[in-house]
Amino acid sequence: MPDSRKPATVAVHAGRPERSPDQPLNVPISMASTYGAGGDLEYGRYGNPTWSAFEDALGALEGGRCLSFGSGMGAVTTVLDLVGQDGLVVAPKHSYTGTLLQLADLEMRGRIRTKLVDITETAAVAAACDDAALVWFESPTNPALEVADVAAIIAAAHEAGARVVVDNTFATPVLQRPLEQGADIVLHSATKYIAGHSDALMGAIVTADDDLYAVLKGRRDLLGTTPGTLEAYLALRGLRTLHLRVERAQANATELVRRLEGHPALSEVRYPGFGGIVSIVLAGGAHPADLLPQHLRTWLHATSLGGVESTYERRRRWNAEPDTIPAGLVRLSVGIEDVDDLWDDLVQALDAV
Ligand SMILES: *Cc1c(COP(=O)(O)O)cnc(C)c1O
Repeated sequence: MPDSRKPATVAVHAGRPERSPDQPLNVPISMASTYGAGGDLEYGRYGNPTWSAFEDALGALEGGRCLSFGSGMGAVTTVLDLVGQDGLVVAPKHSYTGTLLQLADLEMRGRIRTKLVDITETAAVAAACDDAALVWFESPTNPALEVADVAAIIAAAHEAGARVVVDNTFATPVLQRPLEQGADIVLHSATKYIAGHSDALMGAIVTADDDLYAVLKGRRDLLGTTPGTLEAYLALRGLRTLHLRVERAQANATELVRRLEGHPALSEVRYPGFGGIVSIVLAGGAHPADLLPQHLRTWLHATSLGGVESTYERRRRWNAEPDTIPAGLVRLSVGIEDVDDLWDDLVQALDAV
């Protein structure tokens, strides 16, 4: 049943237990590997009331039915499992490294074929869709922060008979709802903004297609890519404040970008104009970027993103990061702290390196 209320209200209210006297307002953490026989669940791998509450809430925010997973990569693996033998997958050359590694591995083992594209070249992406089984993309891309023409690529993929998956981890349903633009599946690393506190690994997919939902549920049951119950609880608790956190992170990011423009230590500041992720490129390359941890006091040096705390890392410290990403590119995940404290810390570190 579509929820006609505004996203902030849905985030707060979706996925709560029935209202009745003495019922807790929040879903309990149901630790269960099995259930009394004869019901809908039967066994812990097939479902859990705490997962369902999280799934109801994220499904309502994205506009479809949600399945939760043990991690974003669990969701990625389950979706890629739908691609038939030798099927073609089109994806951006700048994508999450785990997704790129998974695609490369499946291709090397002769399971699928892949075509990596520049997601900003809409006509070339459309041409690449010909013969594709699956068109997969992120927008903005990680960590290049390129923005795709989402509606045009979805239309081209459908024209070619391909299914479309949008990894909406960076934008979140607060800023972008790809199902409304025609995507077949939205995927999340809920580890990031949705859970939002750097304390839980969790993944999710959402689809408005009931048949596709049933197929994906069947794959999750058999692959065992299911989430933990405590993680589902934490992700739902995080989701309750998603809209506030994303708005604050975006406001902080916008202000930092404004102040960083023209800083002599930087050769580039990349910001897609929305969201809380900013990529800065240090003019001196990898060396000054690697000195930042010696100077930053508030910003935390760590991979991952989307937490309440501001974090950063030089992406090319990972061997799997494509060499089209500048060696001195540092991805900033802007948190919800006071923007002046973030600025003071960042600018003294950039001046020092
Ligand atoms: C982190 C991430 C993933 C993988 O999710 P995990 O929860 O780490 O398994 C997938 N896509 C994007 C865009 C990510 O940032």
